[in-house]
Amino acid sequence: MKIGFIGLGIMGKPMVRNLINAGYKVKAYDIVRENLDAAISYGAEEGKSGAEIASECPVVITMLPNSPHVKTVVLGENGVLEGAKSGLILIDMSSIDPNVSKEIGALCAEKGVRMLDAPVSGGEPKAIDGTLSIMVGGEKALFDEMVPILKCMGSSVVHCGDLGAGNTTKLANQIIVAGNIAVLAEALTMVKKAGVDPLVVFEAIKGGLAGSTVMNAKAPMMIESNFKPGFRVDLHIKDLGNALDTAHKVGAPVPITAMVQEMFETLHADGRGSDDHSSLANFYAKVSGTKIGK
Ligand code: NAD
Repeated sequence: MKIGFIGLGIMGKPMVRNLINAGYKVKAYDIVRENLDAAISYGAEEGKSGAEIASECPVVITMLPNSPHVKTVVLGENGVLEGAKSGLILIDMSSIDPNVSKEIGALCAEKGVRMLDAPVSGGEPKAIDGTLSIMVGGEKALFDEMVPILKCMGSSVVHCGDLGAGNTTKLANQIIVAGNIAVLAEALTMVKKAGVDPLVVFEAIKGGLAGSTVMNAKAPMMIESNFKPGFRVDLHIKDLGNALDTAHKVGAPVPITAMVQEMFETLHADGRGSDDHSSLANFYAKVSGTKIGK
């Protein structure tokens, strides 16, 4: 089967490689020439537009930055819907506003196109290993049909509910990760200022209730002052923006998320938008006058 793939950035490139390694033919497209060339070097066929890809492939995957990009690629001029035949399956794996997933899904349905939203967590290393966690929304029967394709890119593939439920689940993930990083930075800054070594504190508490995947990944980065991404501050601002919109629409106040978003905005204003999100340590360095790292 030939799969169309649109959006060949940090995540899309290794995902294409894993589909090809699993034996699928892939026709790929990106507006950035060098990203398209990378996919071609893995064995993908060159695509010219969303419309062209949709006219040739029964399944089209999108992996784009945010809601407006997915709208452009699917609904815009020369987009997926323009080339789509009835029966096409669209799997949007971008992390976007769940309400936009539903909007796009409704327009797809008018053309006989079936859609899943299937955002991922795990970042570039897990995209490379094919061990992403994939959270999927849409019809259960369509989910079951697409599991073999999704399994080429992820080790955990979970059906979360109707269309939009994948992105709602992803927002929960992003809220929890952001809050965890913020309190980790807060606590390590406090111990440093109190004269206790943050590395010793990390070693002492990581096996207890406060320990977490976030702590194991991000405490060493803060202690080494290594803010190379990873997951960029600006991407987390995008996700928390979608979380705030979604929460407000359903009447679920998210005060901690709003606070962490303002910390991220402070980092962005300081020119740190491309830092790893563990750069929240730099927010605390700014307000306390003390760095966790050397
Ligand atoms: P990226 O910015 O590296 O890649 C996005 C790609 O989309 C780029 O190559 C860009 O040129 C392309 N693109 C944009 N507009 C386009 C258009 N109109 N037509 C064709 N191509 C277009 O982003 P990424 O890091 O690969 O992330 C993709 C999605 O996955 C985002 O929603 C992100 O939040 C999510 N995500 C990222 C990570 C991570 O660690 N990077 C982890 C989990 C989820």
